[in-house]
Amino acid sequence: MRMSVIGCGYLGAVHAAAMASIGHDVIGIDVDEAKVAMLQRGDAPFFEPQLGELLRQGIDAGRLRFTSRMADAGGADVHFLAVGTPQVQGGHAADLRYVDAAVDALLPHLRPGDVLAGKSTVPVGTAAAIARRIDPTGATVVWNPEFLREGWAVHDTLTPDRIVVGVPDTTDGAAAVETIRASYSSAIDAGTPFLVTDLATAELVKGAANAFLATKISFINAMAEIADAAGADVTLLADALGHDTRIGRRYLGSGIGFGGGCLPKDIRAFAARAEELGRGESVVFLREVDAINLRRRDRAVQLVIDALDGRVFGRRIAVLGAAFKPFSDDIRDSPALDVAVRLRGLGADVIVTDPAAIDNAAAVHPQLGYARDRDDALRDADAVVVVTEWDEYRRDLSPAHAGGLVRNRIIIDGRNCLDAAAWRAAGWNYRGMGRR
Ligand code: NAD
Repeated sequence: MRMSVIGCGYLGAVHAAAMASIGHDVIGIDVDEAKVAMLQRGDAPFFEPQLGELLRQGIDAGRLRFTSRMADAGGADVHFLAVGTPQVQGGHAADLRYVDAAVDALLPHLRPGDVLAGKSTVPVGTAAAIARRIDPTGATVVWNPEFLREGWAVHDTLTPDRIVVGVPDTTDGAAAVETIRASYSSAIDAGTPFLVTDLATAELVKGAANAFLATKISFINAMAEIADAAGADVTLLADALGHDTRIGRRYLGSGIGFGGGCLPKDIRAFAARAEELGRGESVVFLREVDAINLRRRDRAVQLVIDALDGRVFGRRIAVLGAAFKPFSDDIRDSPALDVAVRLRGLGADVIVTDPAAIDNAAAVHPQLGYARDRDDALRDADAVVVVTEWDEYRRDLSPAHAGGLVRNRIIIDGRNCLDAAAWRAAGWNYRGMGRR
């Protein structure tokens, strides 16, 4: 099939490359010309495992190209919309200006029978509004929310755990389902569940999924607060809860909480839209989910202050991690960087290291110190804080090796990802989040 993918960021670039890899003819379109130039050379503009390889394969096979000219979308059977929907400035709602601009630019190039498949995360009702705008062109809007996880984006796009498509209740809607089915035929043939819904339900699925995941994380972090007060260990609590198959252990990792370009803004936009619909009370708990999450960053900073007996000013603190999660260079609303910035604000000499996100972090927070080499960051540190659970810290860093580099053997495990007993046995003052 011939496809366009409009917006080539973390979602769109991967989607374009993945669609080309399964045999479709894909054009990726982005307003950011520097990004387009990189993509067209086969270089991933951000860190995502396997993406570079997939881009080069698609380009070499002649099935994938990138441009900033929207006119080149003309002639595609399906147009995937993957532009950003950040939090609006001064409020909690989603900012739909990029969606609106992309639809405006695409409008003159749509033909009868074309399918515009929205993948961006949008407030419920957006698809119906777009459908009204493009109605005169004879094209059909469907909503096809994306569930990929950064760091696993190629895997998740090629082998998703489900495909959801919301369609209008018309003959054109039925035809559009077949277009989307054909787009994903390899995954569907391999047994991926394919769920067809109305437009509003498809939009809600994404918001609801993120609201649930955020709630699960904040639930265990609320338990970490209780565990701290009661002298219990939240990681053992989570293990015990997780054996209950109704609960499950995944997303019960306690620590400094969630961040990134999706969960925080998505739960706020979901609640803002619920308010507009007169149903704010139904999701009032999401405010608590958000508040619990943000309190975790305060807690991590407090653990550092306590470990240094209140004397943070001028002390050297190694911060291990900047990305909001491992296997990503994404620093949007990163709790890791927030902790680093707060410590710097207290006068600490903060040295941040990260295997992938240093350039992004330094561009936004030039006031922090950076070390590309993990051991350079650790050298002479008065305290170490682990804030992103990269394998380089969680698995590969030995307490004895680190102990030979630092000035003080103090480690704050902001992700509860270290073996507390091993670090203590090596003479470290180990402090976790909600761990005795
Ligand atoms: P991003 O900021 O990385 O990418 C958005 C891209 O759209 C940018 O490259 C930008 O230049 C481009 N763009 C903006 N306006 C445009 C226009 N008018 N025409 C063409 N291109 C335009 O954002 P992202 O993380 O890829 O997220 C995109 C959407 O996907 C958001 O709604 C997000 O919530 C959703 N989503 C993201 C993920 C994820 O893991 N990143 C997962 C699921 C859903």
